[in-house]
Amino acid sequence: MSEKGKLLVISGPSGAGKSTVVFKAIEGRSDVCFSTSVTTRSPRPGEVDGREYFFIDFKRFHEMVENDELLEHAEYVTNCYGTPRAYVEQRLNEGMNVVLDIEVLGARQVRKKMPGAVLIFIAPPSLIELERRLRGRGTDTEEAILGRLTRARQEYQEANFYDYLIINDDVEKAAKQLGAIIEAEHCRFADWADWLRSN
Ligand code: 5GP
Repeated sequence: MSEKGKLLVISGPSGAGKSTVVFKAIEGRSDVCFSTSVTTRSPRPGEVDGREYFFIDFKRFHEMVENDELLEHAEYVTNCYGTPRAYVEQRLNEGMNVVLDIEVLGARQVRKKMPGAVLIFIAPPSLIELERRLRGRGTDTEEAILGRLTRARQEYQEANFYDYLIINDDVEKAAKQLGAIIEAEHCRFADWADWLRSN
């Protein structure tokens, strides 16, 4: 078989429910894995180093950038985030689908470096609902909440290069849509050229 792993880039405002949708969509699938990012942000209560993120300091982050250890990286509301390159390349080579949960500037870098990546934007039903969710989470300062809302508005303006938009007004429906996108992307004619030749 010629089927290769797909790089699935998921973006959307923090509070859009991305991780819930992604976890639901890939429940029970052994062909999809997550890439764990590095960040200079402090862990939120309950976050574990190496699970949600690898929490590192600015010095180490800049070192990783210098050594070209990151597939992409960006600043988001006063902190730096990046995708370790080695893990992603290894899993894709093994035929796994790899999910990146990254913001729009990083997604743009991935589109350039890996044109086969599939870019999916997940939006909350409205920005008012987003604000309600961010406040309800109770983990961010007022300044951080306002920063995240401003960034969400900017991302809407900049996201026109994505392949798909999922509006998360119902988690079950949104997860189904994400699952359908993954299936459809594995039926791309161009990806099956070797298979057609050998049949
Ligand atoms: P949070 O602080 O809420 O965990 O994440 C803030 C934003 O950073 C989210 O939009 C998330 O998708 C994005 N993010 C997380 N990891 C990465 C990464 O490795 N690269 C980039 N560019 N953005 C990331």
